[in-house]
Amino acid sequence: MNKAKSDDLRPEYRREDLGPGVRGKYFKHFRFAKILDSWPEARLRELMGRVGPGEVSRALGREELHPEDLAALLSPMALPRLEDLARRANRLTRRHFGRTVGLYAPLYLSNVCTSECTYCFFARGAGGRGRRRTLSPAEIRAECESLARHGFQTILLVSGDAPRVAPPGYLAQAVATAREYFPSVSVEVYALDEEGYRTLAAQGLEGVTLYMETYHRETYARVHLAGKKRDYDYRLGALERAGRAGVRRLNVGALLGLYDWRLDGFWTALHARYLQKECWQSAVSVSFPRLRQAPPRHPVRHPVSDRDLVQLMVALRLFLPEVGFNLSTREPAALRDRLIPLGVTNMSAGSSTRPGGYSHPGEELQAQFEVEDRRPPAEVAAAIRRAGYDPVWKDFDQAFFEGVGRPPADISSQEGKGP
Ligand code: SF4
Repeated sequence: MNKAKSDDLRPEYRREDLGPGVRGKYFKHFRFAKILDSWPEARLRELMGRVGPGEVSRALGREELHPEDLAALLSPMALPRLEDLARRANRLTRRHFGRTVGLYAPLYLSNVCTSECTYCFFARGAGGRGRRRTLSPAEIRAECESLARHGFQTILLVSGDAPRVAPPGYLAQAVATAREYFPSVSVEVYALDEEGYRTLAAQGLEGVTLYMETYHRETYARVHLAGKKRDYDYRLGALERAGRAGVRRLNVGALLGLYDWRLDGFWTALHARYLQKECWQSAVSVSFPRLRQAPPRHPVRHPVSDRDLVQLMVALRLFLPEVGFNLSTREPAALRDRLIPLGVTNMSAGSSTRPGGYSHPGEELQAQFEVEDRRPPAEVAAAIRRAGYDPVWKDFDQAFFEGVGRPPADISSQEGKGP
């Protein structure tokens, strides 16, 4: 049989997981949707249900974890070993990131949104009474000036899902303006095609944050009632498109509380590992946005306790030792301070979730969610120092980035949770 024919007859991919060793020739045939399909809910529940203390110990002892090990660490059976997990997570984070925590701020460009996500106060049907507004170029500049005065060097531009009022050209202009003030600019906006990400990257965009919200298809369909965001597969491929377009920081996450956090946490980790391998020139990070308040039409059916959040973070740290972890001001100050040693590498500070919220803080504009940690940036920086870490305002210079190609393990920022 000639070589071409024998290649045609090979299975599209050989392994059903993304465990260590899945590299090389056949790796390019993996597509994340297929990988996700190979880890359905029933398989995961069965796997987690038969985890015993031995599986947890084995996972704790491994240098490089398989997905089965991650399932063990996310299972209820790992709870008695939570302190061991936390110690290991702390050691790994210090080894790969030192004692640093990057600081960043979100800058909301627009609270106009045409999507109907039941859990979000920006949605048309959420019943929010605050005014809607999209910042003009002059207003974007005023917000940048205000944030730059606090010392921020890393910024996340956030917008609702409204391509008519905030089209890619508007976003590109916003990135260009923000780059005049900040060396590191990321966006958290609606999913774009590769060309759209390329347009933004040409203006100096460094990162894209885009959460899948939930990887559970049925729940995804139930909570996304209208708008382009209903297209699960288009959203699932967005970060890979951004990576192909030259975006150098990719930030994933699930909105914890939409579905079972153990499952969404597992799928998020698989996604992050997939992106690390598929978009090897980009640094990958994970955020942990927790749904704490939601509009009345969305009762939070899968609440995530503080202990759940800790277990999730430390389990993911063991599975993804080189991936940055971001924690937003959705979480209260005391909890954020306690989580620092467990793997957090980036924190937002002094956040406003309203457009124009930094230069006009008193306006009655619709916020996306209420901020829990209301400390000003300098106080957050002081709390980081008290925990024995260095707050980092400035990330790697763009020149260094461009010269080397791939940044070291991520120490920049992405806020949690926009469109
Ligand atoms: S989550 Fe995003 S897309 Fe959905 S309603 Fe809120 S702002 Fe719009």
